[in-house]
Amino acid sequence: MALSPNPNIFANNPIDRAGHLRGNPEWLAEKRKDPSSLFVPLWNLNPLVLPEEVPSQGKDVGWVPAAAVEPLAGPGAIEVFLGINRRGKALFAIDISAARNPEAEGPLKGFGAFEEIRGLAMKGEITASELAILAQAKAMIDWHLRHGFCSACGAKTELAEAGYKRTCPSCHAEHFPRTDPVVIMMATHGDKAFLGRQKIFPKGMYSALAGFMEPGESIEEAVARELDEEAKIAVKSVRYHSTQPWPFPSSLMIGCIAEAESEDFEIDGVELSGGKWFTRDELAAALRGEGQGFFVPPPFAIAHHLVKAFVEGW
Ligand SMILES: [Zn+2]
Repeated sequence: MALSPNPNIFANNPIDRAGHLRGNPEWLAEKRKDPSSLFVPLWNLNPLVLPEEVPSQGKDVGWVPAAAVEPLAGPGAIEVFLGINRRGKALFAIDISAARNPEAEGPLKGFGAFEEIRGLAMKGEITASELAILAQAKAMIDWHLRHGFCSACGAKTELAEAGYKRTCPSCHAEHFPRTDPVVIMMATHGDKAFLGRQKIFPKGMYSALAGFMEPGESIEEAVARELDEEAKIAVKSVRYHSTQPWPFPSSLMIGCIAEAESEDFEIDGVELSGGKWFTRDELAAALRGEGQGFFVPPPFAIAHHLVKAFVEGW
């Protein structure tokens, strides 16, 4: 049975991650050589994207065979097995940051452009399924590039398990890809919900509050602590809504809606520069693009879906 769809961009990854094959070097070597296997090259963490064939019909990810990327990758390039797609093809991500200018020279010259995936998500130029695969690829390559040395002894580590582990040849420590949980939440009280503003937000934008979870903390406790720290809002209960993989570099946004004890609040002036309780009708208007003097984040942000859930009576 398939999972019911998650409303968030970067979720709903359609591939079979095939974890049981990561430790099978013969199978992986065979698939690497198989011309039907597909590689997405990432240059400075940006994937190759092909230009639109038909104007405003969207762009495609630049999936290419190994032969097209190997000359650019250089020795020891990071390569990760992503999984198997619905057509049974093995998918890989490969770091080609060693290349000087792969858009203008070498085997990928003229293929397309290396584009930042947050921008692709904002513009909606790539299908949601492909964005989810790119999120996996970007988070994995990014992790390897930042974890080249053992945190226990300082020696250089080596890629293992098709990219899902790094091992230390000196002290034999094993290191696994990180996911850093972040709680993102909206406090509600009756017919109102609280949204805040940060100084860096575009003028007029209000959004859900957010913060990193701390070790030894439950999701509910992190939600209550963040609302208290940033806005002095006291909560009675916390409900989980949905999660969003957020590969910048390795977060998982955990969306929650919390029931506040009252509408009392006090902005901390550090994390938040403003905040306000909005009625359900005001938020419904904002979702339609008719907010009176304010707006909420667009659908590529989980905050949008928290607001939408509240408006719909979730
Ligand atoms: Zn070590």
